[in-house]
Amino acid sequence: MPELPEVETIKNALDKAIKGAKISDTKVFCRKFRVPIPNCFEQKTICATITNIKRIAKYIVVELDNKYSIVWHLGMSGKIKICESVPQNLQKHDHAVFYTDKGIIIFNDTRRFGMLDIVESAKLNEHFAFKNLGIDPFDEKLTAKYLKHKLKNKKTPVKVALLDQSIINGIGNIYASEALYSAKISPLRESHTLSLTECESLIKAIKETLTKAIKAGGSTLRDYAKPDGSTGYFQNEHCVYNKTGQACPNCICKLKTAKGIKKIMQAGRSTFYCQTLQK
Ligand SMILES: [Zn+2]
Repeated sequence: MPELPEVETIKNALDKAIKGAKISDTKVFCRKFRVPIPNCFEQKTICATITNIKRIAKYIVVELDNKYSIVWHLGMSGKIKICESVPQNLQKHDHAVFYTDKGIIIFNDTRRFGMLDIVESAKLNEHFAFKNLGIDPFDEKLTAKYLKHKLKNKKTPVKVALLDQSIINGIGNIYASEALYSAKISPLRESHTLSLTECESLIKAIKETLTKAIKAGGSTLRDYAKPDGSTGYFQNEHCVYNKTGQACPNCICKLKTAKGIKKIMQAGRSTFYCQTLQK
């Protein structure tokens, strides 16, 4: 599943490729998504010019000059392919295609958990995807005080609270583990026990972890523009994620006795952490 850094990278690639482009045609081949692609989608996008592309949480919002915005989510398996010219053949699971004067954009989604919707730009905040949304990790309103306030009555483990999109939006399972590792905070800590200083280092860790991932994505940015549409999610060097039994990069413990990075399940999701460094 694409996480915030991937979505940010795709957003940047789209911005570079099609900002200012005019959509000459839109084709939808399959509407059967969790939220069906509305029947009016083509009519509301054809002949529009793309004025802006932004990311809200893990959604990509494509603003058009006709007062409408495309709301796009990649779900579990969605891919956005950017092609310079019309591909000879569409591939299996290419469900929607935008033809523009700057290139062809294809939405491919094997499992169809993604979303492609169109809303009035003025009513964007009322869209169900953006209601009750917490603060973006890069928003300056995300302060230690805010986080402390949000966590003060919560007994849930801090890892679970980090995935609560109504507190901070856009942190997925990988970066919740990575940020807690970087802040040296145990994922098992009850949220309300975090001090203001710990909230401060956690926010710093979240920003650094995501920034690092976005930068790593930047170097693979060209992959998104390949006509064959190959994308692939980042093969980042994670510190703890999926590293069960290994020593973490800063580990001070003896691997044999401490048994390395531990994997546990929290609220149905896997968490990875170092029992020695994270308290
Ligand atoms: Zn360690």
